[in-house]
Amino acid sequence: MANIAIVGAGIIGVASAAFLQRDGHSVTLYDPLRPGEGCSFGNAGSIGPGSVVPLSTPGIVRQAASWVTDPNSPLWIDWRYLPRALPWLAKFIAAGASPRIDGIAKALRLLHADSFKHYRTLLGVDGHALLHVSGQLYLYESDAAFAKDALGRRLRDALGIRSEILSSDEIRQLEPSLGPRFARALYLPDSGHCSDPHRLVATIAEDITRNGGRFVRAAVKDFEQEAGQVRAVITDAGRMPCDTVVVAAGAWSQRLARRLGLRIPLESLRGYHVMLPMPETAPKRPLYPLAAKIMITPMEHGLRIAGTAEIAGLDAPMNERRAAALGTIAKRYFPGIAGEPISVWMGHRPATPDSLPVIGPSPQHRNVMLAFGHGQTGLIGGSTTGLLVSDLVAGREPTIDPYPYRVGRF
Ligand SMILES: Cc1cc2nc3c(=O)[nH]c(=O)nc-3n(C[C@H](O)[C@H](O)[C@H](O)COP(=O)(O)OP(=O)(O)OC[C@H]3O[C@@H](n4cnc5c(N)ncnc54)[C@H](O)[C@@H]3O)c2cc1C
Repeated sequence: MANIAIVGAGIIGVASAAFLQRDGHSVTLYDPLRPGEGCSFGNAGSIGPGSVVPLSTPGIVRQAASWVTDPNSPLWIDWRYLPRALPWLAKFIAAGASPRIDGIAKALRLLHADSFKHYRTLLGVDGHALLHVSGQLYLYESDAAFAKDALGRRLRDALGIRSEILSSDEIRQLEPSLGPRFARALYLPDSGHCSDPHRLVATIAEDITRNGGRFVRAAVKDFEQEAGQVRAVITDAGRMPCDTVVVAAGAWSQRLARRLGLRIPLESLRGYHVMLPMPETAPKRPLYPLAAKIMITPMEHGLRIAGTAEIAGLDAPMNERRAAALGTIAKRYFPGIAGEPISVWMGHRPATPDSLPVIGPSPQHRNVMLAFGHGQTGLIGGSTTGLLVSDLVAGREPTIDPYPYRVGRF
């Protein structure tokens, strides 16, 4: 059995490490942060097997142009960073205009369909309490707004994803926390949420170390390469020999991939959350008012309002104003939400232009597996990605077809 180095202890790294360990490998996770303290810490907790609509769709340019001039809009670009982001943005826009959209939705569905099932495999019975097949509500303020979302419905229907259209009254019967603001909703009964995404990662990581795996709190700086193989990872705690490497460093993976001679279009789509006290009438499930592009999720320690996309790179500081704006937007939609923020947070979504992650072997190295770029759906795709990585390392028939996620598509 192999000695496997996993670079990055977010949801993708720990899920990969856990499935590799189940195959009998000796696994070591490397991360300068503790497990789950990167982007996986503060996401909206949505586990939506029916989340299949890529970020870039036809009409994205028109929509984005109206957003970027408003500092509280769902998308903001730091103009100082724009020249660096332009090549990625060009590919992002091209992805939305391409006829590939149905194929992308199908590949997202493959990765997301069995998300709950594979998380249950990874978690002990106690951990199952983190998972809730609670359904999700996509909310629309008018019939016109609902009609505009026809593409999403077409893609979901074509893939057999169950959904129900609800009227204003039916919305409030299902979710009494909501005011009369919404004219229509789409209810996705097979979707749900994780009530503490950070604890999910930490729990899986604890299991790994309990079962003999190692966690080394260090950053990987480089790879020792010889004859088309990586022999060791070079960390800020020294040289660590390995037989196989999994690169799962989220939005930072592009920098590491460069050390391996790979140029992969990966951008940080920065997002924020604000935690508010749980209102008296708490939502029972994730609520998604589409116009605002925020998700409101009942968590173990309060109500999480998460969303927005900001293109400003990996190194710019957090924009406090955008974080605060999330609470204000949520209060506008949901009359029961009150109180001051308990905490605010910013994370880097690792985004590829076509909304599909990179999962598979490096074309240049026989013993390097790439697993990053899950964008806005890394929690949903995490468990199946981990299983797929272990299948590919084992060389057995993969759980799902890995072709759509190959690095060579760029
Ligand atoms: C506001 C917001 C809301 C979101 N909501 C959802 C949602 O509801 N559902 C969903 O599915 N997804 C959601 N996402 C996206 C999801 O959180 C990400 O796709 C996912 O966390 C990515 O996981 P990861 O393991 O690839 O990256 P990370 O969790 O960022 O992990 C990567 C790790 O690599 C480490 N690392 C970096 N460089 C190195 C190095 N050189 N050496 C060693 N380690 C290194 C980092 O420290 C980090 O811990 C959301 C994201 C945001 C920002």
